[in-house]
Amino acid sequence: SKYSKEDIIRLAEEEDVEFIRLQFTDIFGMLKNVAITSSQLQKALDNRCMFDGSAIEGFVRIDESDMYLYPDLDTFEIFPWRPQQGKVARLICDVYGVDQKPFIGDPRYVLKRAMERAKEMGYVFNVGPECEFFLFHTDEEGRPTTQTHETAGYFDVAPIDLAENVRRDIVLNLEDMGFEVEASHHEIAPAQHEIDFQYENVLRSADNIMTFKMAAKTIAKRHGLHATFMPKPKEGVNGSGMHINMSLEDATGRNAFVDESDSLGLSSTAYYFMAGILHHMKAMTILTNPLVNSYKRLIPGYDAPIYIAWSATSNRSSLIRIPSSKGAGTRIELRCPDSAMNPYLALAACLRAGLAGIEKQMKLPECVQGNMFIMAPECLEKRGVERIPETLGDAIEAFEHDGFMRDVLGEHIFIKYLEAKKKEWREFRAQVTDWEVSEYLYKY
Ligand code: GLN
Ligand code: MG
Ligand code: MG
Ligand code: MG
Repeated sequence: SKYSKEDIIRLAEEEDVEFIRLQFTDIFGMLKNVAITSSQLQKALDNRCMFDGSAIEGFVRIDESDMYLYPDLDTFEIFPWRPQQGKVARLICDVYGVDQKPFIGDPRYVLKRAMERAKEMGYVFNVGPECEFFLFHTDEEGRPTTQTHETAGYFDVAPIDLAENVRRDIVLNLEDMGFEVEASHHEIAPAQHEIDFQYENVLRSADNIMTFKMAAKTIAKRHGLHATFMPKPKEGVNGSGMHINMSLEDATGRNAFVDESDSLGLSSTAYYFMAGILHHMKAMTILTNPLVNSYKRLIPGYDAPIYIAWSATSNRSSLIRIPSSKGAGTRIELRCPDSAMNPYLALAACLRAGLAGIEKQMKLPECVQGNMFIMAPECLEKRGVERIPETLGDAIEAFEHDGFMRDVLGEHIFIKYLEAKKKEWREFRAQVTDWEVSEYLYKY
């Protein structure tokens, strides 16, 4: 690892760090933290910082609530946007029980278990996310709205792109925190943006996604804007996705998805991996697309996938696309995930699905070329191409009886997650929406 405990104590002193935030993520993908002062740092590094797990949704019952935070030393970073005297740093932590065993409800542990599987098979999973989000105005009380007076589109430049400076500020702050930002640009919808970071091993990437969202929100706020990762904040324009670029690295450090002799430059490992993802996709959609609102993005015509299919060309309607980059950059791009996902759980599911494809040498369905948004559904159905779940309700159904997902998440998280999603779906179904009132109140 990069840092020892001593390194961290020394860094904290040299850098005049006053507060350290111990961070972890709950099963619904919410970042949590407790701040300690630097006088408590040694204690934290000795894994002796405790919190009440019963207060975290989906964690534990009241009678077994003490949990411990074990900092991952390599995640030590200083927040560049906080005061530069008496600085604020963070450590991402694993959650442990009083028995000093990893807590089964900790999403980071789910991902670590999946990584362990990969390691046994000789692989490291590398992941590069493309994060899309909107920057909206806030009202007089500082509450977020969906308003913008921006009209820019894909790759537009200032002065049409009003948020150029906000994006720049986000990128610079991330770079200060050790991120390698590959690209940032205006996205298709007005007020929509994208920031892509360099691929990393999956644990680091999941940590980065959590950090990125926090940073983007914080910095947007300083510019008087609200950054939202809501999957489909506005009807009639694109939603925000989080495309995930994936590849496996073998024990020699080579990209195991590369085979120069193949027409697409992909190895059989890559094809099996893809087959595994397609095979398990329905059951894990609830993890990659967790909200009622997620499914409003996955409709025809908005550059988001709707069919469980892969495509060899740049095809915006397909679920998996093969980017044209070759050699070490060879990868597949999964296009359904959105930023509301818990990255630890969703990426663990993707990895396990892909590995299952390799283990079982799953057969990849034929690739689908062309724009699936305008293809006749019957035509696709005849070819055995299935739809991605159309609602959270469908996603629940596909997940509920899936033994594989139960195994990936572990019993504890599987049950808690399912219960919470059922409740969310029930609540939503009880709503009478503005659309219904305006459509029906007068006519009927
Ligand atoms: N915003 C689109 C989505 O919902 C993606 C658009 C793009 O990156 N080309 O996935
Ligand atoms: Mg992109
Ligand atoms: Mg994009
Ligand atoms: Mg993309």
